[in-house]
Amino acid sequence: MTIIVTGGAGFIGSCLVERLLAEGQKVLVIDSLWTGSMVNVDKFKGHPNYRFANWDVRNKYPIRETPKQIYHLACPASPDHFGESPIEILETCFRGTQNSLDLAVSCNARVLIASTSEIYGDPRVTPQSEDYWGNTNSFGPRACYDEGKRITEALAYGYQQKHNLEVRIARIFNAYGPSMQLRDGRAVPNFIAAAMEGRPITIYGDGSAGRCFQYVTDCVDGLISLMQSGYTRPVNIGTNAETTVEDLARMIAALVAEKIGSTRKVPIQFFPARTDDPYRRKPDITLAKEVLGWQPRVILRDGLEKTVDWFLQNSGKMPVVKVI
Ligand code: NAD
Repeated sequence: MTIIVTGGAGFIGSCLVERLLAEGQKVLVIDSLWTGSMVNVDKFKGHPNYRFANWDVRNKYPIRETPKQIYHLACPASPDHFGESPIEILETCFRGTQNSLDLAVSCNARVLIASTSEIYGDPRVTPQSEDYWGNTNSFGPRACYDEGKRITEALAYGYQQKHNLEVRIARIFNAYGPSMQLRDGRAVPNFIAAAMEGRPITIYGDGSAGRCFQYVTDCVDGLISLMQSGYTRPVNIGTNAETTVEDLARMIAALVAEKIGSTRKVPIQFFPARTDDPYRRKPDITLAKEVLGWQPRVILRDGLEKTVDWFLQNSGKMPVVKVI
């Protein structure tokens, strides 16, 4: 039976698809290529267990498929899109998630929803455990995503209660790695692009904000473990190894310089912090360790090195992300 991955042409989705195919699963990707790219999935073309449907999840799925599992990842994740397409993001969160949940109900499939650390907003407690209810702003520039993702969780809860549906909720914390779009607006690719192109690295805020960056293969391991588990409430999927944004920028600048053999120092420019950007985001991953037996393994330096190598080899192949 098939496993559906919505958002499978995106950064995390394409890495998940690769893992599922390697495990011998049959995979159908549903993706509108809004923020993802065929470049991420071209490598699967011709694989007997792989199919791709170019479809916007905001529209009811026209497929006659009885999947056993649905990984619902389709949604833009970069803050650059929040200002450009807030309504489309809210629609994707609500209607897109509902369409996946409806399909799951109709064929008795299990659904994993990609939620996010952003549902904690600008948290008042650190680290954030799953029982913290968050501190979000429903009327601000990040609201479409933060509140949209809270809606996806609420929808999943509703379907679990009303239809007895098997749902899994992954609250993903900052993932990074190969297959991100170079210009998608998130810190890691932004910093790598600037360092590769010899431009100053831009930091919003004074650089002291804390983030915990997990390598994408760890994240995918966490998602698969959660899907396979019997646990039906939200679980944080992230690393608790914290770094400041400025330290991240300096690590990336040094790595890129080492790789391209440059001795030129990459300057860092500081701009005012973006509205409602959380100051500290750090997961408590006790629950994931207990119920999934999962924890991240790749340390930041190693993951960044792989990511920089990948961008140096692949940046020429990347299309510019479109606005819808
Ligand atoms: P991404 O932008 O690389 O991938 C998202 C994919 O979904 C893209 O391929 C895009 O084309 C597709 N998509 C978006 N809207 C769609 C729509 N309406 N119909 C069909 N396809 C659509 O982002 P990502 O980083 O891979 O994130 C994947 C999921 O994980 C998202 O739901 C995101 O909210 C969640 N998440 C990611 C992170 C992270 O650090 N990367 C953190 C928390 C949560």
